[in-house]
Amino acid sequence: MSNTNDLRFECVHCGNCCTDLDTLVNTTYSDIIRIKNGLNLDLDEIIEILGFYIFDKKPTIKEINRMVVPPIETEKGLAFVGLKKRLNGKCYFYDETKKRCSIYGFRPNFCRTFPFTFKLLIDLDKENPKKSEIEIFYTEKGLKYCQGIGESAPIIDDDNWLQIGRDVIQDLTKNNILIKEWNKGVKENKISPSVRNFILTISNLE
Ligand code: SF4
Ligand code: SF4
Repeated sequence: MSNTNDLRFECVHCGNCCTDLDTLVNTTYSDIIRIKNGLNLDLDEIIEILGFYIFDKKPTIKEINRMVVPPIETEKGLAFVGLKKRLNGKCYFYDETKKRCSIYGFRPNFCRTFPFTFKLLIDLDKENPKKSEIEIFYTEKGLKYCQGIGESAPIIDDDNWLQIGRDVIQDLTKNNILIKEWNKGVKENKISPSVRNFILTISNLE
């Protein structure tokens, strides 16, 4: 069951999601590994293209639980992990000359799913994933600046977007388990909270 019949979208490549000053592109560990492998980056290079955004004010447990990708403990404090932004606020990977993403094939799930978000209505059925019930919504930012949403856009392909939703929910679930273990290990002084160690740890999961 889904509500996709009333969702209309087709990307018109306006670039707003890649250039909005207030949009931070979150990255799960599988996003990071995909970009690292896709661009053949070494440890220093992958750290260079990531942003570890320290919260000005430590979020409450309730606020953390509402986050799609929870923050990780680092040597500098709790940090949101995402793609680095350039000084002008645009995504590090946005090619301003060609007006497009320079890592399209490896882009994070955040970008794959924009301008949508997904809600799982029942547990994913491993035997028959098609049975999993997912609801799809426009994100707040999508409604705010995505030029591909509108009455003139086509109704979205139900099967395609529901499959993306299932994949993304599975990825987020795995990611959230990893972050929970990482944060617990740091708090118990069993893990060095350096950003370098975080990238090493996730690289070793391959
Ligand atoms: S990774 Fe690509 S699609 Fe995602 S925000 Fe950056 S430029 Fe845009
Ligand atoms: S804001 Fe919407 S239309 Fe513009 S590039 Fe992003 S997904 Fe495409």
